[in-house]
Amino acid sequence: INILAIESSCDDTAAAVLSNGKILSNIVATQEVHQQYGGVVPELASRAHQQNIVPVIHQALAKANIDKKDVSAIAFTRGPGLMGSLLVGTSFAKSLAMGLNIPLIEVNHMQAHILAHFIEEPDFDKPEFPFLAMTISGGHTQIVKVTDYFEMEVIGETIDDAVGEAFDKSAKILGLPYPGGPLVDKYAREGNPKAFKFPKPKVDGLNFSFSGFKTSVLYFVQRETKNDPDFIEKNLKDICASIQYTIIGILMDKLKKAVKETGINQVAIGGGVSANSGIRQALKDSEKKWGWKCYIPKFEYTTDNAAMIGIAGYHKFLKEDFANFSITAQSRYKF
Ligand code: ATP
Ligand code: FE
Repeated sequence: INILAIESSCDDTAAAVLSNGKILSNIVATQEVHQQYGGVVPELASRAHQQNIVPVIHQALAKANIDKKDVSAIAFTRGPGLMGSLLVGTSFAKSLAMGLNIPLIEVNHMQAHILAHFIEEPDFDKPEFPFLAMTISGGHTQIVKVTDYFEMEVIGETIDDAVGEAFDKSAKILGLPYPGGPLVDKYAREGNPKAFKFPKPKVDGLNFSFSGFKTSVLYFVQRETKNDPDFIEKNLKDICASIQYTIIGILMDKLKKAVKETGINQVAIGGGVSANSGIRQALKDSEKKWGWKCYIPKFEYTTDNAAMIGIAGYHKFLKEDFANFSITAQSRYKF
């Protein structure tokens, strides 16, 4: 079974070909235009998707050495994401499936971030059901109880900003370019995580909040640079390490609580922030400290990619769960 998968929910145009759950190709075209604006500009993203989608799909098929006649189904991201971006992938997927007369499969982007763990990879164990998944990305922060491929329940989520935004906005305050998350990670590696202290929010249950955190970083930087204009420059590594340490503390506190409440100690992470070296280490430590079994994705499956859409599509194909051709994109798509 050959699945051609298309992902266009935000600012990356991606296509992948999977054969029986194994990746034959996984192509991502990252849009550079947004960097100068310090964030994704939806209108520009949508236009760039229109330019990129044909070459990216051609490249994915060519690299996989698969003719489009041998594709069994087209899987695409229906949502959640930016409407203008989703529309490009959705209309393209629909037309291609119609033209080739093959099934169309709709995929929820956040479920796909979780299902990325089921991509066939040598040396990587797949989680067993039930497990907990923490999806940490640019637009979401969720703890999900996963009882089957498509049986997922959100048991906790952010009530305001996503954790990726907390990274990116803190980075912006420090004068770092967008997206700042990976840079905070880079500088944090050489800094002292306990150099500065930031408050942790108090939020009920398994929910998260990051807007107050971002504000506390802003006030801290304003206060310190008033005394010393070179404060950021002199302390960048320590500030990044302290920010990252606090964010990871917030995530791990809730994850611990979720494990306790559900009695499930198999834990998987997904989404762009799961590329963060600190959170990856914290999960590895939890295996030794608390006997959890943790699943940490390969880097290429953390930020947006089409391979994860393809594996979700493959499991829907096995269930013959196909979409109708009248389907539309959904920018807020809950599961
Ligand atoms: P969503 O999946 O919620 O729709 P998205 O698709 O825009 O959002 P992803 O591509 O999954 O988000 O993740 C992007 C986010 O991950 C950005 O906020 C980026 O800063 C963050 N990120 C990527 N690498 C790292 C890292 N090493 N450390 C911290 N954050 C990171
Ligand atoms: Fe994503």
